[in-house]
Amino acid sequence: MTIEELRKTREELREITGRIIELLAYRLEKAEKVGELKRELGLPNVDLETERELREYVSKKSAQYGLDDAFIQQIMTLIFNESIKRQDGKEPKNKIPRITHIDIFRKAKELEVSGREIVHLEVGEPNFGAPIKVADKLSEAAKKGYAFYGDAKGHVNLREAISEYLENRFGVSLSKDEILVTPGGRFAVYLAAAATLAPGDEALIIDPSWPAYKQITEFLQCRPVVIKTSLSTGWLPNIDELEKSTSRATKMLFINYPNNPTGVTISKELLKALVDFARRKKINVISDEVYMDYAFNGFTSILETNYDNAIMIMSFSKSYGMTGYRIGYLVAKKEIIDRAARIQSLLMTCVPEFIQIAAIEALADVETPRKYREEMKRRIDKVCQMLDEINAEYVKPTGGMYVFPRFRSLKMNSIELALKLLDKYGVSVAPGLSFGDYPDHIRISTGCELSKIITGMEKLREALNEQ
Ligand code: PMP
Repeated sequence: MTIEELRKTREELREITGRIIELLAYRLEKAEKVGELKRELGLPNVDLETERELREYVSKKSAQYGLDDAFIQQIMTLIFNESIKRQDGKEPKNKIPRITHIDIFRKAKELEVSGREIVHLEVGEPNFGAPIKVADKLSEAAKKGYAFYGDAKGHVNLREAISEYLENRFGVSLSKDEILVTPGGRFAVYLAAAATLAPGDEALIIDPSWPAYKQITEFLQCRPVVIKTSLSTGWLPNIDELEKSTSRATKMLFINYPNNPTGVTISKELLKALVDFARRKKINVISDEVYMDYAFNGFTSILETNYDNAIMIMSFSKSYGMTGYRIGYLVAKKEIIDRAARIQSLLMTCVPEFIQIAAIEALADVETPRKYREEMKRRIDKVCQMLDEINAEYVKPTGGMYVFPRFRSLKMNSIELALKLLDKYGVSVAPGLSFGDYPDHIRISTGCELSKIITGMEKLREALNEQ
């Protein structure tokens, strides 16, 4: 090959790239037209069925040309995303603003600084605190010098303690290489997703859901595909709907039971059905089990299904009241753990060792999680009783630390209700829209002490009576 040939071929490449751009612009223009037509017909912008058909067509076409299907499907996600963005951009601007529970929390804090007393029913943090033995162990470990750089996967003693703990609890046998210690459950979710998703992949998310699943998916340049559940069906996911929402780009399913925000748990059978679905579709499942110790009628972990592509997320935040310690872990096959550990090593070297030593102490404590669960149940029962008195609709939680009610004859959406409750009554709750398309719901957290919860619920009643 001569230099001249190289130059000419580059020229051709340039011209072909130009043509791709022209075609892309033309395609986006057509997508906008489709958006207009859909609006006229009152149809939603996102049409998963049509997308799926197109993906199948593209897949056949790419096989014809010997192209890698995964690569082509990733490009398709980018094209779909851009098309939807353009269609959304042309929507009339009368959508409800997305104020989340974080915005409400910030506003509540501002009011507190200005001297107002606020009842916090919006935060997902139990007020329990860590057991004193754990705090003592932490300072003792720091004094003993457990304060150097450590293994990115976590201290071997803690990983072994976690493995033993999970074996006793769920009858699973795990090697320490299948466990990664992380700074909390949130980071564990991020690492699990970052280790398994590539840009353009799709992840199935069952709404209502903890907002981080969508945010992390989007942060990784992937696409969250939402499956809605509803109060009328007990907030339980339907496998047919999951099937319908799965495409060639689907690589992940997020599940979270006991659930934030609904407080529901799922049966062994439903968990098995979800895992069977994932197995059929050859996709990973991230099972966020941070509320497992707040399950009131027993709990089945995804670990018990022996699914090779399951990733289990756990945290010390809720079970032991250790939110500020920032410690949790993920369990998955070695290949995923290795990838996640490389990301953790890159971003933060390791979790501080003295915190890990304190976590070993926590794991040995069986009393504290039991005590905390009983207290959560007591609070949730009280909230439910007070909700019954105001004729609210909700599914009675079987776990977690939240209730997600809806109010009959509510004359405003949940954001307006949340803002009114905060401004006029000094009570902060999380609007349902933080967790998906649930404008009629609010999330009531039972993180603070019972007397405050009762005050908050009384004020909620007043606000509803007054509307
Ligand atoms: N998962 C869910 C469902 C949560 O609600 C939370 C906390 N709100 C977490 C994970 C993360 O908790 P942490 O990072 O404190 O372990």
